[in-house]
Amino acid sequence: MGGDLVSEQQRWDLESLYEGGSRSPAFRDFLDDLETNVTSFSMVLQNTPGAMQSPDMGLKAVILTMQDLTKRLREAGAFVSCLAAQNVHDTEAKTLQTRINRIGATLASAIALLDERLRQAGEETVQSLMTAPELAPLAPAIQEQIERSKRRLPAEQERLIARLTADGYAAWGHLYDTIVGRMAVDIERDGRKETVSMGQLANRMSQADQRDRDKLFDVWEAAWAREADLCADALNHLAGFRLQVYEARGWHSVLEEPLEINRMSRETLEAMWDAVARNQERLLPYLAAKARVLGVERLSFADVDAPLSVGAARQSVSYESARRFIVDQFAAFSPEMAAFADTCFERRWIEAEDRPGKRPGGFCTSFPMHKESRIFVTFSGTPGNVATLAHELGHAYHQHVMRDLPYLATRYAMNVAETASTFAEAIVSDAAIQAASSDGERLELLNDKLQRAAAMLMNIHARFLFETRFYEERKRGYVPVERLNELMMTAQQEAYRGALRRYHPHFWASKLHFYITGTPFYNFPYTFGFLFSTGIHAIASAEGASFAHRYVDLLRDTGRMRVEDLAKKHIGADLTKPDFWQRSIDFALRDLDTFVQLASRVS
Ligand SMILES: [Zn+2]
Repeated sequence: MGGDLVSEQQRWDLESLYEGGSRSPAFRDFLDDLETNVTSFSMVLQNTPGAMQSPDMGLKAVILTMQDLTKRLREAGAFVSCLAAQNVHDTEAKTLQTRINRIGATLASAIALLDERLRQAGEETVQSLMTAPELAPLAPAIQEQIERSKRRLPAEQERLIARLTADGYAAWGHLYDTIVGRMAVDIERDGRKETVSMGQLANRMSQADQRDRDKLFDVWEAAWAREADLCADALNHLAGFRLQVYEARGWHSVLEEPLEINRMSRETLEAMWDAVARNQERLLPYLAAKARVLGVERLSFADVDAPLSVGAARQSVSYESARRFIVDQFAAFSPEMAAFADTCFERRWIEAEDRPGKRPGGFCTSFPMHKESRIFVTFSGTPGNVATLAHELGHAYHQHVMRDLPYLATRYAMNVAETASTFAEAIVSDAAIQAASSDGERLELLNDKLQRAAAMLMNIHARFLFETRFYEERKRGYVPVERLNELMMTAQQEAYRGALRRYHPHFWASKLHFYITGTPFYNFPYTFGFLFSTGIHAIASAEGASFAHRYVDLLRDTGRMRVEDLAKKHIGADLTKPDFWQRSIDFALRDLDTFVQLASRVS
């Protein structure tokens, strides 16, 4: 009985959103309506180009309908992603997903037509249109949409590119998934041979002890070397397609698209990387101390993320005490944030049960029609689970403070998406470090923290250096495997300041992120998000609870401002100058000396 109640507490409530799971009649009705409305919206835009009786009236209605449909599509996607995550065998959920993708594609091409129409209407017409009370709050979003469309080719040509994408650009990304999906290697474990996938091998490597990790890393590198020619084809052609499109649009820099997506300027990006490069040396004592704890002279690329395994076996944390710990830590910063987190537990917005058939990993998704969120994690009582739970609650709080804004003003990019989550996680992780019951435990927790900083300031920087240089060379032709390896080695040596005993030349093949076509340059937004959030954490710990309201105001603007304006308005920082980044890095590395001292005691 008690067990059932505990499980019930840890299972989320989807029924109050749409009753009946993946066969919910209410959700089916919702989708039917959405599909009908998207179809007629698309027809309206196709059939009435330019000259309408009253263009102002027409456009106003069209913009509001677009917002409404985008919002409903988001709601539908959120529900289905929850269904698919809670039970990976739910085939009905997959069918629903396919249907939503189709509706989404129709809506996207209709929106492209709307962009074209806004562009044709001219700046003056649109500006006077946007002064209408219902539209005024959407002005930044619409303005942005027009600006984006201005930097693109005429609609007809963009549509052709979109059609070619499925069998060209995106197809190279899918081919990469196929290559990786069928890769398998034989390894030995406890005297037995076993065949594992690359994902399993990555897990084995991270759990192995020092000697085994070196051996597994050999196997890992060799496996990628065997498939390197195919990966190089995928990467070169994917990049070639991208560069052709950019050239046709008259874009000279490969960074134009990722900077546009992340609403940031090149000056900001450069200021951030300059500060990072100037501070990488400071991480070397951390890497050296970690090497001593692991019993090696210097770390290899595979050791950098290895656990220390010095902490006494940590006590398992119950779900209830995780809840209390998180709510208490949030309360010290903001009682509102704490109360909100508590409500998430109370109303069962969190799926936390440790049971088979769930998808791995964690996420938080918002239901804009219901103004609610749902969090997905698998809670087995580790300190890492507590941190993840805090992280996802941070996302939920971000969505919560934006709940009354018009939908088009709530869509934030990847670089600020992690602001609230990283901050929430940092609050809880710092408290856990304070509460650690032994030096071993404290060392492990500090290692988690500094390892993350090293990943952001070194690993991600290496990816960025590689990717920028690769794209430059790709403009002049196909970049062969040997050259890709060279570029990667150079980038890693640079970012790790030559501190490692061994690098990972085939990292360009093993890292999925280089093959994501939906979001180019899937790297610098991570470092931006980490340092932006750390900078906010630094201000919060200096100012205490009085910062909580400014923090909420900042979060509310993440979906409608460029990052430079956001930082200037809410924290008085100039992101195009080094100061902000330097202070963030200082704050991120503030425990480094403590780590080195503690490490010298155990090694
Ligand atoms: Zn996150």
